[in-house]
Amino acid sequence: MSLARTWSVGLVGLSGGVVEVEVDLSAGLPGMAIVGLADTAIRESRDRVRAAVLNSGLDWPNRKITIGLSPATLPKHGSGYDLALAIGVLAASEQLPAGAAEKFLFLGELGLDGRVRGIRGVLPAVLAAVRSCHDQVVVGEENGPEAQLVGAADVWVGDTLASVVGFLRGDLEGQRPAAVDAPTPAAVPDLIDVVGQAAGRLALEIAAAGGHHLLLTGPPGAGKTMLAERLPGILPPLTDEEALEVTAVHSLSGSLPRGSPLIRRPPYESPHHTATMPSLVGGGSPMARPGAISRAHRGVLFLDEAPEFARGVLDSLRQPLENGSVMLHRAAGVSTYPCRCQLILAANPCACAPATGDADCGCTSVARRRYADRLSGPLLDRVDLQVSLPAVSRRALLDSDQPREGSADVAGRVLRARAAAASRLSAWGRRLNGEAPGALLREQLRLPRAALASAELALDRGLLSVRGFDRVLRVTCTVLWHT
Ligand SMILES: [Zn+2]
Repeated sequence: MSLARTWSVGLVGLSGGVVEVEVDLSAGLPGMAIVGLADTAIRESRDRVRAAVLNSGLDWPNRKITIGLSPATLPKHGSGYDLALAIGVLAASEQLPAGAAEKFLFLGELGLDGRVRGIRGVLPAVLAAVRSCHDQVVVGEENGPEAQLVGAADVWVGDTLASVVGFLRGDLEGQRPAAVDAPTPAAVPDLIDVVGQAAGRLALEIAAAGGHHLLLTGPPGAGKTMLAERLPGILPPLTDEEALEVTAVHSLSGSLPRGSPLIRRPPYESPHHTATMPSLVGGGSPMARPGAISRAHRGVLFLDEAPEFARGVLDSLRQPLENGSVMLHRAAGVSTYPCRCQLILAANPCACAPATGDADCGCTSVARRRYADRLSGPLLDRVDLQVSLPAVSRRALLDSDQPREGSADVAGRVLRARAAAASRLSAWGRRLNGEAPGALLREQLRLPRAALASAELALDRGLLSVRGFDRVLRVTCTVLWHT
């Protein structure tokens, strides 16, 4: 037999499709051609695969090798096809028992010495494989625990090409992934460390309860970053489904911890203000990778010194925040990543950011206004809570033996408030007040008039826009239902 077939996966964003790898050996000038919309990294794998086969003590067929990757319409990129290509060539040259290669799906990059290296995006790839009824999967040893997260998959691991070949020949016993360590709860900063800032604490709790975006303004040292860092600690842990979604994004961006790969806590991302648009919303080529906003999916995206971010970069967040997902178009295809995160913006009162508070700063009110205006109206339209924090007073600092509430107590209240909101909003397919559209708030929910009296007055006098009024309604819902 000089024709063999095996399987791998092509990923476009987080969704993928099973790729059939066909290998044909024929008489002709020795060489290897790959057809089927493969990018340069795959065409380069010729040399890698050949070296890996020879260095594993196996034979490289001295014939014309044609490899077809199908469906040809699915863009294929990266080095994750190496293992499937090598197994296909070995099967076509009858170095493997007939049909052995066809039973499995292979994901892994090969080193020149024949080692099987881990690849990014194994979790979404295995999910795609299982959806297409390919549940027998072979991956590199380091990807084993991650692949294992897909309960329906039957995962085998190999550290070298030789060991995978030995397994397929039946000479070696198949290896299973190493047991996943019980996730050690990473130390999350606790609210008990925050001195004073009653308004900031309350704003953080309301933001957590309603899933509202939050702007914190105040002098340096007021504790804006401290508060933002503590938001993931008071959010409910991720559900099983959310944990898989979040882990899949981090798998693609290569930021998963080894050993215990499943992410259970809401993630926290805090890009620096020099961040570019691709690093924030996603980008790169040939297929776009997720940006900070997607790595913060189901968690928190914190932008410290938000007015210092480039205007275009901040504005690029608007659409993704609105849609909960980001679509990145490239010549090779369109990648879609989820980005349902909570945005926390922090801003100093002025560009010189005096450490001593307002009084000693020489900035005029015009200069301060101009600095605040760097945050565009359309972005702030999506930020329900906007809170100004005072500098921490000497008294608050010295009275630090006053009892302070820790994150666990606040998290309990947040959990109850979220459950209450979810049961009220479920009829409209929503779970969080922060996601509720204006029409739903105004026409369906029938909030008590007394709670809205001052907002209605402000609307009448032109002090609040309609969007501003909707923001008040959203926060009102959270406060009213917060038990
Ligand atoms: Zn100033």
